[in-house]
Amino acid sequence: MQVESAAATHTGRVRTVNEDAFLALPQLVVVADGMGGHASGDVASALAVTVFAELGERVPIRAEDVALAVDRANTAIVAEAEAHPEKAGMGTTISGLAVVDEGGSPHWLVFNIGDSRVYRIANGTLHQLTVDHSEVAGLVATGRITERDALTHPLRHVITRSLGVVPSPVPDTWLVPVTVGDLFLVCSDGLTNELPNIEIARVVTGAPRLADAADTLVEAAVAAGGRDNVTVVLVATVEDKVVSGESMDSDTSTIPRKRLSAPEPRAGAAP
Ligand code: MN
Repeated sequence: MQVESAAATHTGRVRTVNEDAFLALPQLVVVADGMGGHASGDVASALAVTVFAELGERVPIRAEDVALAVDRANTAIVAEAEAHPEKAGMGTTISGLAVVDEGGSPHWLVFNIGDSRVYRIANGTLHQLTVDHSEVAGLVATGRITERDALTHPLRHVITRSLGVVPSPVPDTWLVPVTVGDLFLVCSDGLTNELPNIEIARVVTGAPRLADAADTLVEAAVAAGGRDNVTVVLVATVEDKVVSGESMDSDTSTIPRKRLSAPEPRAGAAP
């Protein structure tokens, strides 16, 4: 079994800066949606991704390493804002998955702070694994507004947990066993505020390759309005492909995978 990931991001049609950032390694995927601090949101999300990129160099990743990386990312953002008062108030969401060992078998550790989301896609349907830390998510949970109302509610951009605050926020986490055929979507709200779930599922299941699906999702969100930065990372487990002359990796990764056909790791934000 091997893990593949593909990512795409776009500034959108309204914003001038892409404050989203992402990391797409086989064993660690992160989306960060930066905000605030006189347009220093891109600094906050980039700092968070830099800290997680260091975590990505450590294989295997332990569940506690993810919590430590969240804490380190938070400290880095707070320190940067203290050193540069014009950046005060900047912050970022962080959502993603890491392959960790749990009880001797590989699991996805899904983690979330803020309103970027992790979905599992199965049987052509999106299943949201994370719970948004936002004002509107609270209103939906208590039945005061519907999911549809939340898309246009005046408090829709207010998040209740983020990186860049003191004390350090604690991520919500979930464990999911790794199996062949797993398919996950990690995205910023610029995707889900523009496209209905059914359209997202249709694009992902209809695309010939993971990279095409990521590109098409971002293009569709921009075409639908592009009112926010849009970032998408897709992660899938697939059976090993037979590649002549290529032997199995002998690294210490939790999941055996072949290197040749795996996509190059990508990090950062697009123009
Ligand atoms: Mn956003």
